[in-house]
Amino acid sequence: MSTEDIKSKVIKICTLLKLQSPQVCDGAITINLPIILHIIDSKPNLTADTICGVLLESPFCPLNNNEFNWTVNIDDGPPKWIKPEESNETINILQITDIHYDPNYEPYGNAYCNEPTCCRKGQNDTNTSGKVAGYWGDYNYCDSPWHVVVDVLDHVITEHKNISYVYFTGDIIDHGVWETSIEGNVESLNKSYLQIYETFKNIPVYPILGNHEPHPVNQFAPRTITNDEISTQWLYKLMADLWINFGWLSESTRSTILQGGFYTVSPKKGFRIIVLNNNVCYSYNWWLLYQPQDPDGQLQWLADTLLQAEVDKEYVHILAHLPPNNTDCQTTWKREYLKIVNRFAHIIRAQFNGHTHKDELQLIYDSDDNSKISNVAWNGGSVTTYENVNPNYKLYTIDNKNYEVKDFENWIYNLTLANIKSDQRPLWYKSYSFKEEYGLSDLTYDSLQTWLFKLMNDENLLNRYYRNYFKQAEPSLTKECDAKCMRAFICHVIVSLGDHEIKCDN
Ligand SMILES: [Zn+2]
Ligand SMILES: [Zn+2]
Repeated sequence: MSTEDIKSKVIKICTLLKLQSPQVCDGAITINLPIILHIIDSKPNLTADTICGVLLESPFCPLNNNEFNWTVNIDDGPPKWIKPEESNETINILQITDIHYDPNYEPYGNAYCNEPTCCRKGQNDTNTSGKVAGYWGDYNYCDSPWHVVVDVLDHVITEHKNISYVYFTGDIIDHGVWETSIEGNVESLNKSYLQIYETFKNIPVYPILGNHEPHPVNQFAPRTITNDEISTQWLYKLMADLWINFGWLSESTRSTILQGGFYTVSPKKGFRIIVLNNNVCYSYNWWLLYQPQDPDGQLQWLADTLLQAEVDKEYVHILAHLPPNNTDCQTTWKREYLKIVNRFAHIIRAQFNGHTHKDELQLIYDSDDNSKISNVAWNGGSVTTYENVNPNYKLYTIDNKNYEVKDFENWIYNLTLANIKSDQRPLWYKSYSFKEEYGLSDLTYDSLQTWLFKLMNDENLLNRYYRNYFKQAEPSLTKECDAKCMRAFICHVIVSLGDHEIKCDN
């Protein structure tokens, strides 16, 4: 069949089965097809079973393909501990994430459309519900208008005077995934990063890529793919140029950013930040089918970088868009990542993630002793309200010597109230600080373990976590969550490791 024939037939099926509106079917298929056809043409042995196994990870199509059976070379020596030092000094690190700026956002437009993202220009003629988009955002499937991006950055810099570093954990592009373009993404990325730069000026920002940054969404091609229509080189090049030109990163980071969107820096002696592009492991990254083995050599680089950090007696923060136990991250990649974390847990003081848009954390258990927490991954939430959450950001208090997270504050605004007073700026407020909210004396792994068990038995406490998870957004809180739902919810907090899987129900 010709490409055109394939395209029109797939669009027909998508429309006929009412998977999406005709425009969305047409757009999504048109922009994804060149990549999919390239992969199928260059991998004649690729089977439907493999595609099913990678995409669905279902027991009905177990992945029996040796290409996906790879490992990373991890140093097996015993961990070399750094003499623990604690200081009374702390620094503040701001985490801001998942902006999802929508250049097409239309205040008072259609908030209840038949497309994956609403509140956008051009959707008004299909508004049958009468629900209109709020000025400051909308709880439905809507992203952030530009004035929301400006407002949050302006609020942060006015409110908090002592920020040492900013972690931006990805996703600038909107959810209009069926009609993205390289030009459109370039424009949004340039505009947003410039705003971030002008806000923080000489405060160092450590940015990472979200799965929404490429075109089409989720697609990160290996470096060997240089054909402009399907390659990711434009994105890596743009990010390297922006991040280095703003003075946030040194020239030495360029080679790995161009290789696959990851880098490492040491802002101070004894402290290292490792930034990953773990979006490559996302099951919806079709390129996983093309080159499954440690894409771009990123995990081997991570293992080597951590080994060197151990030799150099450095404490590490890892920044990555997807949280470690993300169910959509390909199993082999996730397994090898967790093996690396397990080996170097003693120097990794914290992980920071985005993507879920929820205020949550994940406790990672030691694979050799599954009664012990070995690492914690903090999620920054989101600026976007997509969907049914309030906007938020987090301010962490970090020990100045050993880079441990001592506490954090979460800041939000109530979208309903903001939209009632749409002519005024939203009322940002500190919704809680972690230690105080949950009655913890510190955030050591032992304390977090105790907290987790308390959460399982204390309905009040669990409800509090549940409320904070949705950033107190009423539309999410009015939905029922029974005991079973709550249990699944707690299990989500836990990350299990390989053979020593923690049976959460126990
Ligand atoms: Zn996101
Ligand atoms: Zn994301």
